[in-house]
Amino acid sequence: MRDFFERKKEELGIELNAVQQQAVLETEGPLLLLACPGSGKTTTMIMRIGYLIEEKKVPPSRIKAITFSRASAADMKARFEKLFPHLPSVNFSTIHSLAFEITRHYLEKTDRNYELIEGKGSHQFNKQSLLKRIYKDVLKEDCTDDELGTLSTFISGLKNKLIPMDKWEEVEQPFKNASLIAKKYEQHKTKQTHFIYVDFDDMLVLAEEALRLDDALADEFRGRFDYLLTDESQDTSLVQHMIVEHLVAYHGNLCVVADDDQSIYTWRGADPTYLLEFKKVYPDALILQMEQNYRSSKEIVETAAKFITRNQDRYPKQMFTKNAANKPIQLKQVSTPKDQLDYVIYELLNEKNLSETAILFRNNASSTMYVSELHRRGIPFYMKDADDKFFNHWIIEDILNFMRLSFNVERKDIFAKIILKMNLYVSRSQVTKFQNAKASGNVFDVFMKTVPLKERQVKKLQDYKKGYEVIPEMRPMRVIQLIREDLGYEAALKSRAEKFGYRFDHLNDILDTLENIAMPLRTMVEFAQRLKELEEAVQTAKFNPPENAVTLSTFHSSKGLEFGRVFMIDLQKGIIPSEEDEQDVRTLEEARRLFYVGMTRAKNRLELLSFQEDEGKKKEDSRFLNEVRRIINPNQAPVEKRKTIATKQVQRKTVQVNPKGIQNRQELSVGLEVVHRVFGKGKILSVDSKVKIQFEHEQKEFDTNTILQYGFIERV
Ligand code: ATP
Ligand code: MG
Repeated sequence: MRDFFERKKEELGIELNAVQQQAVLETEGPLLLLACPGSGKTTTMIMRIGYLIEEKKVPPSRIKAITFSRASAADMKARFEKLFPHLPSVNFSTIHSLAFEITRHYLEKTDRNYELIEGKGSHQFNKQSLLKRIYKDVLKEDCTDDELGTLSTFISGLKNKLIPMDKWEEVEQPFKNASLIAKKYEQHKTKQTHFIYVDFDDMLVLAEEALRLDDALADEFRGRFDYLLTDESQDTSLVQHMIVEHLVAYHGNLCVVADDDQSIYTWRGADPTYLLEFKKVYPDALILQMEQNYRSSKEIVETAAKFITRNQDRYPKQMFTKNAANKPIQLKQVSTPKDQLDYVIYELLNEKNLSETAILFRNNASSTMYVSELHRRGIPFYMKDADDKFFNHWIIEDILNFMRLSFNVERKDIFAKIILKMNLYVSRSQVTKFQNAKASGNVFDVFMKTVPLKERQVKKLQDYKKGYEVIPEMRPMRVIQLIREDLGYEAALKSRAEKFGYRFDHLNDILDTLENIAMPLRTMVEFAQRLKELEEAVQTAKFNPPENAVTLSTFHSSKGLEFGRVFMIDLQKGIIPSEEDEQDVRTLEEARRLFYVGMTRAKNRLELLSFQEDEGKKKEDSRFLNEVRRIINPNQAPVEKRKTIATKQVQRKTVQVNPKGIQNRQELSVGLEVVHRVFGKGKILSVDSKVKIQFEHEQKEFDTNTILQYGFIERV
């Protein structure tokens, strides 16, 4: 038996520690491996699979490894192939694909046809359209995208926790009548006798039901695998745990790997507390713990270990490492999101090993700016959960329609699409009247002629008409600004947001992103082409990533992965934690775990980035960032409130920010040797609202905020 580990040590240079070896060797019966990030959970699981095949001669087809997502299945498969290149591959799959297989058999046996209404296979009629319809029936209002997301998460929670329908009303509702909508949704899917609509949650619920009720079917699936393994089990939901329980009911050969500190999906029904009960379900289970981190440098491990102790609801663990120290964790505070982007891009341009580099963010919406800039600079990138929703957003369609009209101001069809979005308080019936009118010519004239209007409206329309005369000559960024401001689009958006309960900030962010995309371009045609190009680039980044690509990922999807260098961006109050996260301790702790997952992805270099203002609005650092700051510098006072950066002072900038410059107040200390952009080498004499610097021949004072904002001085 020693031979196996000796051999692996020679072949791979990985020497498993005693607990890891034990976890590999104890192949029979249930095993729970509870361990810290980077402690080798996944590695151990893969070694165990290799051991089963190489040493115990178990046919690979008899082993089932269950992963959390398709991406992690692919990741684990790749890792297995790296460690055991000579072995045939094992069945790595998600619990959903396994459940779907079971569900299909079950429906066939019970003589039911089905249609999938979620994911790729679904068509026009899908989960979302059905939920929207029922929402409107029940609440007599349109369902916003945010509410649709909330509703969908709520339903997933109910089903993943196996809560019976008659108890749904007792569950805390995200909004009034949510459980009623959920019920109607269920009833609609199952109202026919021989036909059923199936979403992702149903696959799990039906598979569990099948295994519980249909012995023959359960036996068939039980008979397929002699060994089951599940990674990232802190994010397994009750229904998923039950499926696994049914499958190992006879042999109990189950290896469960988890870290409660990395549980980041309870909002969607994951149930990490199940692991606490593991012994109740599997009385003879072996439970092992691992605390040594092999992944990250000493600074990262020690800081992350302290950081997570702020959470109350956790198993006590002491993560440590024997790895050497590397660069300190860098906390970089820049002025604006654009500066943050510039900094990251600048660093990437100088980074040779892009495939070992990742940019991690909370919200996928942040990624579009990065995609645009990476693409423009020719930096290859990979994005597994790319958000193509951005390019199909109705705001983009609106902006393009505003632009299209400028190519031919006689197009009544296009005008009819945008007139309601010009903040003119025009009614639909007026638009219909305009459309039905025989008159042709400049649409503004036709509209004023055919529709009775108030004086104020006429005045505005005349202005708009003039605006449209100059648009063809303008650069697309200016056109977007004109649409937003002078053609009333932003104001219309605001009242629309209020009326329908959209988050105006989110909508406005989309417009900002569009302006940024348009910035370097000369014509509207180029702009439209650029959007198409970017949409394609995102698809390529997702399905066909180039070699040596930097990874863009949400914190959530980065789980289980590791990179030499990690940038965590947008670490702001309101983003992480979000306002919703701050509402109670449980969600706040989950957000802290999410931050912790991000931090523990980095092997050597971790950079935590935040900005001070956005579009003239002052922004605060994430409280988690401040926690890290205090861990790193326990003696330092909390970050000084940057009162002096008044919003009015922050205008559209023309000065180039130096990304290498010192941008963090705390890095300025008396005696520090620096290089000033203009005056050259010097030493800091004092720091308060001004920084006094002794240069070779002279002393000078500078405004501290300005120096930081533009990175005017660098360390020597
Ligand atoms: P996470 O919680 O993030 O999923 P994990 O516990 O699954 O982490 P792994 O990804 O398996 O950790 O391992 C982290 C890193 O440590 C990998 O690069 C792996 O090769 C390395 N590693 C694991 N065990 C050892 C060991 N005994 N000796 C040397 N390196 C190891
Ligand atoms: Mg892992």
